[in-house]
Amino acid sequence: MARRRQLYEGKAKILFEGPEPGTLVQYFKDDATAGNGSKKGIITGKGVLNNRISEYIMLRLQEVGIPTHFIRRINMREQLIREVEIIPLEIVIRNVAAGSIAKRLGIPEGTRLPRSIVEYYYKNDSLGDPMVAEEHITAFGWASTHDMDDMVAIALRVNDFLCGLFAGVGIVLIDFKLEFGRLWEDEEMRIILADEISPDNCRLWDAKTNEKLDKDRFRRDMGRVEEAYQEVARRLGILPEAGNGDMKGSEMMQ
Ligand code: C5P
Repeated sequence: MARRRQLYEGKAKILFEGPEPGTLVQYFKDDATAGNGSKKGIITGKGVLNNRISEYIMLRLQEVGIPTHFIRRINMREQLIREVEIIPLEIVIRNVAAGSIAKRLGIPEGTRLPRSIVEYYYKNDSLGDPMVAEEHITAFGWASTHDMDDMVAIALRVNDFLCGLFAGVGIVLIDFKLEFGRLWEDEEMRIILADEISPDNCRLWDAKTNEKLDKDRFRRDMGRVEEAYQEVARRLGILPEAGNGDMKGSEMMQ
């Protein structure tokens, strides 16, 4: 296939011009970064696994009526997506304290939160993606209150659905990050889910042992990073039961 024009390169993905107007090709790299790019590495096979995991999750979400940018997977590392105007926000939903909320508020990691908490971060690498309030978002025009209502409503539906989906395969959805985009059709604008949903942007813990099956293994130098991503794919039924890595159940992990 002729090489398409590259439009954007991010830390974990590249966007190419799509085959038809209004479409893009999203390419998943093996590159991993943490701490806003201060830690860099390669997780072999991550791009292939995240392409499959994100495809699987986006398709399940579409089945329950949640609008997403996903059109179809093209090959091992690429998927066709709808071109949207990305809203410069990261919406984080938390069910259990971990990561930055644990550190910032001194809540022990693993504490179940009394209710799901929604947080907003301004997507800006040079500022280190600072946490912001709805006041900042509307004052600076990154999104309207109506956009915010739509994003929060979708994010909470995604949380409910994914908590159930992962619980069914013995995984607790601790927290995750979503990005949204504006899709224009005729004169109408609607907000749809964009980016990816994978162990790169979710915290996923084994329900029995609390072992981490996500990017925290890379962030915290815990080892067995590839195996953790494979384990998530295997449990979701995307990888065959045997022959992919050596992470049998969870006993191998710390
Ligand atoms: O680091 P923190 O605890 O705020 O992360 C919350 C969730 O958002 C985690 O699941 C993490 O993987 C995700 N996240 C992300 N991209 C960022 C920051 C956080 O995917 N830039």
